[in-house]
Amino acid sequence: MTVSGGNGAVMKTHGLIRDLISSFINIDPASFTLGTPPTADDGTSPSLWLATDIPAHLAQHIVDNHIISSNGITVFPLPYSMPNLSFVGIFAGFTLPDTDAGADAARDLLRTVIANNSKICTFVQTHRDAFGPQISADQALTIFLDSITVQGIVLLVNDTKTVAWRLRVTLPTDDHLAWGHLRRLFGKLQVMTALYGTACLQRTFRCRICPGIDHPTPLCPLPSLPGWLGPTHATIAALLRPRLRSRCA
Ligand SMILES: [Zn+2]
Repeated sequence: MTVSGGNGAVMKTHGLIRDLISSFINIDPASFTLGTPPTADDGTSPSLWLATDIPAHLAQHIVDNHIISSNGITVFPLPYSMPNLSFVGIFAGFTLPDTDAGADAARDLLRTVIANNSKICTFVQTHRDAFGPQISADQALTIFLDSITVQGIVLLVNDTKTVAWRLRVTLPTDDHLAWGHLRRLFGKLQVMTALYGTACLQRTFRCRICPGIDHPTPLCPLPSLPGWLGPTHATIAALLRPRLRSRCA
């Protein structure tokens, strides 16, 4: 979306856009994701914002309208199709440490379970368009299994530090629906081990700063980048508060 109005303050603009969209399509203001883009050098709101997780027919309704506005803000919706991400999700439940050896063990455990899951293997063999026509079904499966990587993330669950594992793969298909189906097959995996507990896919995170899905807000890496002018871990909660107040008014 491109935006004019707001009062120049980034989180005020954030709240106005959220209220405008939710009232226009009559949905809960908290039910969709609105990215908080970096603030310009002069401190004014950015003009391009990303709204996601809106049901497809309602998103289309917004786009078809070309322009929506309230007293405080005017929004020009532009359609945007998110590319498929190689990020599958976060597996939690293993008791492995956040070390290179722990990551290797987590990756091998996940790879073994995936390689033995006939639904996932068959799906990759029959949905392999991203690898090109010269790649056979068996080659596609080998490429896919070899591409499995994990990266540890330390989460605080009930005041206890837990190491979870972010799983990434090379995409076998460019088709959105097929990729969504494959991710749902990953969601059914239960990785039971004799020594390291049982891991399964967690709900994805929604970072309020970037808005990534592979980490919670307190672990967002953006605020530590040199020159970052957007919200930080310390400011994001306070910056979001005006929106909550305005909803109660
Ligand atoms: Zn983030």
